[in-house]
Amino acid sequence: MGYAMVRSVALHGVVGEVIVVEADVAPGLPSLVVSGLPDAALSEARDRVRAAVHNSGAYWPQQRITVNLLPAHVRKHGSGFDAAVAIAVLAAGSDLPIGRLADGVVLGELGLDGTVRPVRGILPAVLAASRAGVGFAVVPLANVTEARLVPDIEVRAADCLGRIIGYLYGSENLLDPAAKPQPPEAAPLDLADVLGQERGRRVIELAAAGRHHVAMFGPPGAGKTMLAERLPGVLPPLNDQEAIEATALHSVAGTLSPGSTLIRRAPLQAPHHTASVAALVGGGSGLAKPGAISLAHNGVLFLDECAEFANGALEALRQPLEEGEVRLRRTYGETVYPARVQLVLAANPCPCAKPGGQHMCECPSMVRRRYQARLSGPLMDRVDLQVDLDPVRSAALINAEAVEPTAVVAGRVRAARDAAIERWAPHASSNGEVPGSMLRHHRFRLPKPVVRPLTEAMDRGRLSARGFDRAVRVAWTLADLDGRERPEAGDVREALELRSRTVR
Ligand SMILES: [Zn+2]
Repeated sequence: MGYAMVRSVALHGVVGEVIVVEADVAPGLPSLVVSGLPDAALSEARDRVRAAVHNSGAYWPQQRITVNLLPAHVRKHGSGFDAAVAIAVLAAGSDLPIGRLADGVVLGELGLDGTVRPVRGILPAVLAASRAGVGFAVVPLANVTEARLVPDIEVRAADCLGRIIGYLYGSENLLDPAAKPQPPEAAPLDLADVLGQERGRRVIELAAAGRHHVAMFGPPGAGKTMLAERLPGVLPPLNDQEAIEATALHSVAGTLSPGSTLIRRAPLQAPHHTASVAALVGGGSGLAKPGAISLAHNGVLFLDECAEFANGALEALRQPLEEGEVRLRRTYGETVYPARVQLVLAANPCPCAKPGGQHMCECPSMVRRRYQARLSGPLMDRVDLQVDLDPVRSAALINAEAVEPTAVVAGRVRAARDAAIERWAPHASSNGEVPGSMLRHHRFRLPKPVVRPLTEAMDRGRLSARGFDRAVRVAWTLADLDGRERPEAGDVREALELRSRTVR
């Protein structure tokens, strides 16, 4: 009979908070009340925890048990508190000594048989514990590799509740499995595979160097998908912070393969055009899962056949693209997931997608017009690079010796990115993200003769004010890739050419 407390971690989106599980055991009719804003999964935990304790050979106190999760205002989801609840109850009711957990947190779901089962979001949970000054974490065995990605905290694993109990009594050890050797990361898909598509390769290099959204239009066989899949290899590797963010999102989504290390290469997500809004931006019941746009955080979201996506789906991407995060409204509040992505759109010029291009098209003009309208929505308004790609001709394949591999292109991209970071700091870290006001700031405003191609296009009604800014951003990227201080008229002309689709 008595009182005990054990710490665990609650997650909101990918942000963890250390919480306290307290248990009080008092005389009275045997019962278990769990309070502290638990969601449905937590009430189910009552029966699970009791069965797990029984099946671990421990004695479940036959008294009035109250379990409370603190602080009360923190929303708590999921099954990751089971083990902490069991330990707290046993400590309060059966004098289980918990001194060895004084500096620790306990994470894990319990099976009815007493096994400790893996939970989603171990990386952000252990990270939160470490940042809160906790020195020690007990995690499910299946999550131990992921938990060890967090620095400055001692991680031990448990396969069953009985082992944690034995550890607390001093009769058993927690598990400390040797790290498995990691298979070397597969080399990225190489740009050198994309033969005869010079324009496409150029666009991918520009997109990578300036962090520009890009849209590619062309018939099947133009290499749009091959190009998109090679963008992550050209992008700079994620830094420590970006890598932890990306890995934490995949951890919460449950898409991290067991034993995987931090995600260092920019992730690529390519949802199918039939994907639901929830699959794109996140959702689901209970703890809302991150969607494709968050799983692509710090990487690339590739929408192939983008004209085929439902309007609602494309509409749902607008707010996250603007804000760099997704806000999912739930009955109990809001879940926020990071979603800073580079968008790659690809589409056929028309629904029939004849390989020969427009002159082979069999679509009625109505169908064509409706299709085109889909390709010019508000989403397209944010895309700096919009290009038509021709199908690759066989002659170009034969004559393709001088094609550069990804490593060479990535080197140039890196240098261009560094130049942009230095120039725009602290306002932006890439040309694609520079606010229009910065572009027009007296230090960066381009002289009239340089922007003449753009002012002329505007005068002829061929370019909007937004289009003007987008072309200037791309011109900066062209200059950066060339190692020049500022864009020249030639860069501006090329930038304009790179966003004037001819498809009608
Ligand atoms: Zn057609």
